[in-house]
Amino acid sequence: MHLPEPVAEEAPRPPWLHLRKRAAQAGLTGFDVVCANVGTRYAHGTEGDRGAAAVVPPHLARVAQGLAMFLAGRRDCDAREVFSSGHGAMALRYGRPVVAQAVYDQVVCGGELAGVASSEPHSGSDLRGLRTVAVDHGDHFVLSGMKGLVGRVDEATGFVVFCKVVPSEQAAVQGADVAWLREVPLSALWLPTATAGVLTETTVPLGLRGWSLGHLRFDDVRVGSELLLGVPGDGRRIFDTHFSGWRLMMALVCLGAATAAIEETMARARRRSVGRTCLANVPSVVSRLGIAAAEIQAATAWCFSLLERIEQEGDEVDVAACSAAKALATDASYRAVDIGLQLHGSEGYTRRTPMEKRLRDIRGLRIADGPNDTLYGVLAQSLLSETRPAAPLVAQRRA
Ligand SMILES: Cc1cc2nc3c(=O)[nH]c(=O)nc-3n(C[C@H](O)[C@H](O)[C@H](O)COP(=O)(O)OP(=O)(O)OC[C@H]3O[C@@H](n4cnc5c(N)ncnc54)[C@H](O)[C@@H]3O)c2cc1C
Repeated sequence: MHLPEPVAEEAPRPPWLHLRKRAAQAGLTGFDVVCANVGTRYAHGTEGDRGAAAVVPPHLARVAQGLAMFLAGRRDCDAREVFSSGHGAMALRYGRPVVAQAVYDQVVCGGELAGVASSEPHSGSDLRGLRTVAVDHGDHFVLSGMKGLVGRVDEATGFVVFCKVVPSEQAAVQGADVAWLREVPLSALWLPTATAGVLTETTVPLGLRGWSLGHLRFDDVRVGSELLLGVPGDGRRIFDTHFSGWRLMMALVCLGAATAAIEETMARARRRSVGRTCLANVPSVVSRLGIAAAEIQAATAWCFSLLERIEQEGDEVDVAACSAAKALATDASYRAVDIGLQLHGSEGYTRRTPMEKRLRDIRGLRIADGPNDTLYGVLAQSLLSETRPAAPLVAQRRA
């Protein structure tokens, strides 16, 4: 409603955070989560979110979130942050009641934004290589390290930080060599951005410029022990469960953008003549658009079928399939938008049309939330694995 046209880079940037607050008032920031951890005050939604809760049956919450992402992508990839609890879902799901309630108040009811801080400058794809440390002092942790590049550093009210929890005695005897940290299991905690010792700096990315991207530095940040999500060492489970769904969301943002690009390109091809021929009658144009449309339809169907399985299977998420679906969808979307840009000619190459912005935005999502090369590898490794019965290449839908 508030973005009548797909956004071009040259157009004024929509007030994204303000739109998210409007979405919160309309009940569109919490329909994706069942908030078992929050008190009765919110268990059935605030006045604002009753509307969305009423139209989204609980067993379709993730599918509805996927649909919201797809529709957001049709207008602009940056609109992805307007809907749903986003990364706040991890704090809602795994946080102690006091944390879940605070995040619910801020992110779901207040329309603030939650970020995730996993990547580090020396290690993005390799989670075992993370070196951010939370030294355990019993009633609190002392957090130190560097995160980045991380999205939403300027806007997020708090971050789910992935780190290594280390007993204070062990931290005291370790020297400069950090190789031992690889063996420490991953943990996750909720960190309000305003906590003393959290420093941010931003950089200018190629695309997805509606939201900031930068580094977070933790200079001996004191974090109450109640901010730990789950128990120490739960980080990998939290990461895999959350990111399986989240990767499908980012896939659907790109598929929405690609769908809009194909539709706009079809319309232009019908309007545009080259010599005596309409562009829509050139066989190679028709064939390329057909391939793009088929790839986008197939990837969209795959993503929604995986979301249905997440609804049914809960924590038994097929991490490998979700990872590969994100890679396939974002790659196919990029190809589709590239064809769309090509068929818009020089006009498509300007900041006046949404094509070039889509191309840059989708490019980012082929790296963010797991680089695509890595994600295809996750599927292959799971199929090649000899340690358990091989996963079926094509899973059957349950009745
Ligand atoms: C727009 C954007 C937003 C982001 N937002 C966030 C955020 O909010 N929070 C956050 O924590 N991080 C965020 N990131 C960081 C992102 O998660 C990392 O960039 C990503 O995981 C890759 O890590 P890296 O940059 O260290 O690349 P590297 O790990 O150095 O990898 C570089 C490249 O090497 C290849 N590669 C690496 N490993 C393998 C492998 N095993 N198999 C095959 N090829 C491989 C891939 O092509 C990869 O792109 C964001 C990144 C982008 C681009």
